[in-house]
Amino acid sequence: MTDLKTLKLIDLEEMSSYIKKVGVENLIEKLIPYLESDYRDWEKFTKMPRPTHHSEVGVNELMLIGNRENYSVKYVNGHPINPSRNLLTVIGMGLFADVETGYPKMICEMTLLTAIRTAATSVMAAKYLARANSKKMALIGNGCQSEFQAIGFHKVLGIEEINVFDIDEAATDKLIDNLSRFKDLKVNKCTGVAEACEGVDIVTTVTADKKFATILTKNMIEEGMHLNCVGGDCPGKTELDSQILYMGDVYVELEEQSRIEGEIQHMPDDFEVTEITNVIKTKKPIDRKDSDITIFDSVGFAIEDYSILRMIYEIAKEEDLGKEISMVPVLDDPKNLYGLIK
Ligand code: NAD
Repeated sequence: MTDLKTLKLIDLEEMSSYIKKVGVENLIEKLIPYLESDYRDWEKFTKMPRPTHHSEVGVNELMLIGNRENYSVKYVNGHPINPSRNLLTVIGMGLFADVETGYPKMICEMTLLTAIRTAATSVMAAKYLARANSKKMALIGNGCQSEFQAIGFHKVLGIEEINVFDIDEAATDKLIDNLSRFKDLKVNKCTGVAEACEGVDIVTTVTADKKFATILTKNMIEEGMHLNCVGGDCPGKTELDSQILYMGDVYVELEEQSRIEGEIQHMPDDFEVTEITNVIKTKKPIDRKDSDITIFDSVGFAIEDYSILRMIYEIAKEEDLGKEISMVPVLDDPKNLYGLIK
């Protein structure tokens, strides 16, 4: 049994300096095998759609999952209105706990970790679903998640050129500036979604709007494209003209959750989808024709948070990351809690 008298606290300051030191691209690359291994162990996890609390402006959520060793919890929100109040659309914080004793092992920031795990999940899915020689991507929605997606697809999947568009031109300029250190990545600023999608292999949509949006319409979809749809992740919040879902094969994380939150919330109950775990278990890309269209309808699933917490906890132990804090009682007599305050 590990020493559970203290737990690790990794706050934003320490996490951001660690990520800066190691490099986002290296963490995304390192995380993918963790994701694959946990997705292959699918049956060993207790899984459920996330409990949510909806309001007129956003959603507060808990993402919960466990297996025989660990249990993880992420608190996360989704408030597309927030940037207009100078706040982030998505923030997160996480807890990683021991199953044997029930004791917590780590508490950490998860806003940066969510962006990293979302990008790693997108790249992992594309590795199995997209055409093997994909070189060009459209990136629609240039807010907080966008750099992580761009860097993951460029450095890990080998994307060489990205067409970027956002209704907020300042967000696009920020993205282009942040990507300027990648000298071998060509970034093209586009004036609209249709222009951005023209002739690309992969389309990533990562917009935030609390409505049934139609960022992509049927006329923008070309043969052979892989759609990586990240921003539609709540009831009443989607990004695609639902007719697009009939144009290709649709892959999801946990089907039960995606039917509530994903693009497929528009579809009848018998609309066929494949859980991505079934692809990852085969350990090889799907058998696809170059003209086939594939759609990853991502809403984010708790196993992805589990994977990154598992990885960060290992790193924290190896590299002495985080402060040891006391959060649970340490008692000579484990029945004398009152003795602590007598
Ligand atoms: P953000 O607010 O920082 O950025 C969203 C961007 O989308 C903004 O710049 C906004 O101007 C742009 N946008 C809105 N409507 C648009 C339109 N019609 N066309 C083009 N651009 C448009 O948010 P973020 O943190 O980058 O998150 C983006 C989305 O991803 C959110 O909807 C969030 O809920 C979702 N998300 C999903 C996952 C997942 O696992 N699937 C994980 C994290 C975030």
